[in-house]
Amino acid sequence: MVRGGIDLGGTHMAAGILAEDGKLLAVAERPTRPGRPAEEMAGDLAGALEEAAEKAGLRPEELASVGIGVPGAANDETGVVTNCNNLGWYHLPLRELMHRYISRPVHLGNDANAAALAESRYGAGKGTKSCVMITLGTGVGAGIVLDGRVWNGAFGYAGEIGHMCLVPGGVPCTCGRSGCVEQYCSATGLIRMGQRACELFRDTRMMTEAGGDLSRLNARMILDCARDGDPRAVSVFQEYVRFLATVIDGMIVLLEPEMIILGGGVSRAGSFLLDAVSAQLPRWEADEKRPDIPLRAACLGNEAGMIGAALLGDA
Ligand SMILES: [Zn+2]
Repeated sequence: MVRGGIDLGGTHMAAGILAEDGKLLAVAERPTRPGRPAEEMAGDLAGALEEAAEKAGLRPEELASVGIGVPGAANDETGVVTNCNNLGWYHLPLRELMHRYISRPVHLGNDANAAALAESRYGAGKGTKSCVMITLGTGVGAGIVLDGRVWNGAFGYAGEIGHMCLVPGGVPCTCGRSGCVEQYCSATGLIRMGQRACELFRDTRMMTEAGGDLSRLNARMILDCARDGDPRAVSVFQEYVRFLATVIDGMIVLLEPEMIILGGGVSRAGSFLLDAVSAQLPRWEADEKRPDIPLRAACLGNEAGMIGAALLGDA
């Protein structure tokens, strides 16, 4: 069974053709250009899919189903994208729009959930039935896979851990609340902590890396400086790790998945980050036999969104 999967992002849309073994046979991309009519965008989604199918030597009608991962909340039962801030879509009947262009069954889901599904089937979580994938990028998102299926929540908003409160009364968040996980555990949060350290301690190597311009400091520079032992960067990294470990511990206590997978730009720090977070996770002192839940870095990269979207039909 060959399926189509489209990862619809804020800047570009990527369509992939997924073979039964979890390999992408072909990929095609289009710019998203948010702000234009949704109908036009649906036409481009279908166009990218047709192009990918053609590259794979198939006609779109030969696809068993087509899945679309959106950067927001979607309801697969009704075929409606309920809330997608980045694209300005609210209660948009995307499935209906897609059926003007393609005749295959169309499934909708959240992009972070789709990526988690892909990692659990074919990536870092291969062989597990339950896992949580946390994406550490500009923001923070999570996808929850339980018994091999994505848990979307009652209304499609499950897994939005970026806006769970981590520090009561903390840093104001874009969502209107304050102290959200996203303000501390995203790349943006890490950069903010790095910039604050630079303002307090001008002697840090982070300052040199950024060429003396704090607005140029990025997450990779902070992680590199911490890895190289710059004391200020090490403190920032440790603070970041404590916040992240608190969030991960919460996921483990609540769901006890078989594995926690970290994805997104910050996760590229690999074992440097994973080992530091693992060391900070609280242990069950009173129950020594209680197993530790392993942490792994995502391994499918940008393909996870397309692969996961294609799998939405049977999850
Ligand atoms: Zn928030």
